[in-house]
Amino acid sequence: MRYLAVKGARVPALGFGTWALSGRGAYDATRQALELGYRHIDTAQIYGNEAEIGRALRDSSLPRAEIFLTTKVAPNNLSAAATKRSHDESLKRLALDYVDLLLIHWPNPQIPLGETLKALAEIKAAGKTRFIGVSNFTVELLREAVERHRADLLCNQVEYHPFLPQRAVLAALKRYGMILTAYAPVARGRVFKDKTLAGIGRKYGKTPGQIALRWLIEQDGVVPIPKAARREHAADNIAIFDFALSAEDRAAIDRLGAGERLVEWGGYSPDWDRE
Ligand code: NAP
Repeated sequence: MRYLAVKGARVPALGFGTWALSGRGAYDATRQALELGYRHIDTAQIYGNEAEIGRALRDSSLPRAEIFLTTKVAPNNLSAAATKRSHDESLKRLALDYVDLLLIHWPNPQIPLGETLKALAEIKAAGKTRFIGVSNFTVELLREAVERHRADLLCNQVEYHPFLPQRAVLAALKRYGMILTAYAPVARGRVFKDKTLAGIGRKYGKTPGQIALRWLIEQDGVVPIPKAARREHAADNIAIFDFALSAEDRAAIDRLGAGERLVEWGGYSPDWDRE
């Protein structure tokens, strides 16, 4: 596994997503991912799988310090009191003393951002998370968090794959010394139908998914977190550290970005940046 050094954190360059995994499926997929070499696991309060993931981490017998675990506060829990209470409940379900990264899952315009950020900073000071960050934040929201509220954030987790360029968000994150955690990095399976990615894949003996993930990890400060319930998918997704894309192939993938966004959440989706 490769690691990114950012703000004193050592972040595994590839993570494992767990959305839509529950019960035995969440446990088995997480155990499998850890066996395959993943060391960065992404969950959230609303995924309803924190207990199974905590159990998979324990049963793996890996030292706690080797794992980088992220969870997220649900948007209806963002008042100061609910942020703290709900994170205590997350820790209880995970049966852990701390997580590595705690995120605001989606912005909630009904609750002052400064209030949530202050609660997150207090959770961090209490040792219940090592780092804090945000998810689904636009450039404007990042500016408010970092410039107005002086929040010390590690990442913004947003949708990012070859069909959705994130130029504006990437530029803002670079300015703030933050990383971009890329969710839906294989575009929920759509990359496998793309002819350009397939053609590039044939040159390297790789699948379109491996080409998309390699394109992401080759960018400064970008960490994809593909989800895979199937063992062969999880194994394929981590087999991306043994080749490099040519500048020409990277440029061809850059040109795929037509702005195809797959993930929205009704009342919580912000006014997304256009490029
Ligand atoms: P994704 O990782 O792009 O796609 C997952 C889908 O692609 C699954 O159906 C999986 O199949 C399939 N797949 C994965 N690897 C494959 C491979 N090598 N070959 C063929 N198919 C493959 O989408 P995602 O799950 O939406 O995003 C990843 C993670 O990001 C989530 O699990 C979650 O942790 C996080 N996320 C966060 C937010 C947020 O608001 N912060 C939103 C969405 C997602 P199988 O499962 O059958 O193997």
